[in-house]
Amino acid sequence: MKFFLKTFKENQSVTLEEEISPTDLDIDVGIMHFPSDILVRAEAWKGEDGLSVAVHVEAEREFTCSSCLEEFNNLFEKDFSLHYDIKGLDSVEIDSDVRDEIIIEHPIRILCRKDCRGLCPSCGANLNEDSCDCKEV
Ligand SMILES: [Zn+2]
Ligand SMILES: [Zn+2]
Repeated sequence: MKFFLKTFKENQSVTLEEEISPTDLDIDVGIMHFPSDILVRAEAWKGEDGLSVAVHVEAEREFTCSSCLEEFNNLFEKDFSLHYDIKGLDSVEIDSDVRDEIIIEHPIRILCRKDCRGLCPSCGANLNEDSCDCKEV
């Protein structure tokens, strides 16, 4: 997503909205999985030497529960602002900073729900769905 500085009129912001595929944003890597496109809405204001951008991101994320190993999705939303020095530039590309903001929010361990009961350590039954006959340790 790119702001062309020439398109800015005095005292007017420019808003861009785009659905960026996880591949284009280079974000579907490692433990991070995004089953659908990532919505990015960005409103930018141009100042004397700088560009300020208010960004809203929405993304469906796909996780594997750290406790019971079930897969589940949750919706990620974040608002943040970015600032760029624009001296000598014609355009500002914000994708890599948007990518960073999504990555730093990504949990390494996550549960499908607060009270996830996990798997039985002896027989591997998913205790959210089944009970098993193993003795409690
Ligand atoms: Zn779970
Ligand atoms: Zn068991």
